[in-house]
Amino acid sequence: MNNVIIIGSGCAGLTAAIYAGRANLKPLVIDGFEPGGQLSLTTMVENFPGFPDGILGPDLIENMRKQAQKFGAEFKSGAITEVDLSKRPFKIHAGNDVYETQTLIVGSGATARLIGLESEKKLIGYGVSTCATCDGYFFRGKEIAVVGGGDSAMEEANFLSRFASKVNLIHRRPEFRASKIMVDRARANPKVEFVTPYAVEEISDVSRGGVEYLTLRNTQTNETKKLPVEGVFIAIGHEPNTKVFRGKLDMDENGYLITHHGSQTNVPGVFAAGDVQDHHYRQAITAAGSGCMAALDAEKFLDAHKDA
Ligand code: NAP
Repeated sequence: MNNVIIIGSGCAGLTAAIYAGRANLKPLVIDGFEPGGQLSLTTMVENFPGFPDGILGPDLIENMRKQAQKFGAEFKSGAITEVDLSKRPFKIHAGNDVYETQTLIVGSGATARLIGLESEKKLIGYGVSTCATCDGYFFRGKEIAVVGGGDSAMEEANFLSRFASKVNLIHRRPEFRASKIMVDRARANPKVEFVTPYAVEEISDVSRGGVEYLTLRNTQTNETKKLPVEGVFIAIGHEPNTKVFRGKLDMDENGYLITHHGSQTNVPGVFAAGDVQDHHYRQAITAAGSGCMAALDAEKFLDAHKDA
């Protein structure tokens, strides 16, 4: 029987593990299918307080993991396949393994959608990014591209125009899903050029270890062309990792968990932290902060239900 199980080992889950460990709760962290979360997919992190020279995302995560282990957190690998939250202790299934726990912290994160190109995967952190706030600064004075036609793409194009010499906004249709005000704002930005209707067919050059140009296909005429850029931001949405909680925890229409009074979900004893419940800020530091909140809330809950 566990006091607290933490699902997910990104910034939120690991911070929760550090706090729960220091509260002597011996947390069990179940890694999930993307151990380390989104930070493990990035290179230099320059906006996490305490690292004036920056720190590599995977190193930051490794440090947090060691810090959690130092305070007694245990780790198991494996993705969650089923949960029974109908009564306490909750039952958490990871394949054939079943764990019981008095409290649960869900920090399973959100996964940035990718176009699905092999080159995109290989160049993540080397010119391909899914986070403008994190990586925009690296593209000062450079020509870049943003892919997507939603509010995120418009917002990121505007944000990135502060750093980049030019931002090509590439979208597969002539119409936009983004709200009119966001499209108008991007259109009025002299540094943003709309490139539609184009799909990204290839990101080059993997053999040279960086982004040099994109191969674009006009989705109406099928003609292709090359666009020289030094970076590309994929802004085609995120998927919260909440499939196993459908029908069990309250979520919004996009599948993000709904929290109230800090980190509480609708099930007493189940808490949520990080991007799984936050589609707005999505930062390492906000995820870490909410992981801390969830651990403190779980500790308080356990205290109040000691004899239950
Ligand atoms: P979104 O609204 O789902 O838009 C995703 C965009 O990516 C769509 O234009 C879609 O194209 C395109 N796309 C999806 N898969 C693609 C693929 N495989 N290849 C190429 N393009 C692809 O996602 P979002 O922009 O991240 O926004 C998510 C939610 O957050 C929305 O509700 C949005 O309003 C909100 N949001 C609000 C703000 C704000 O108000 N400040 C800022 C950011 C986000 P199609 O249109 O052709 O399907």
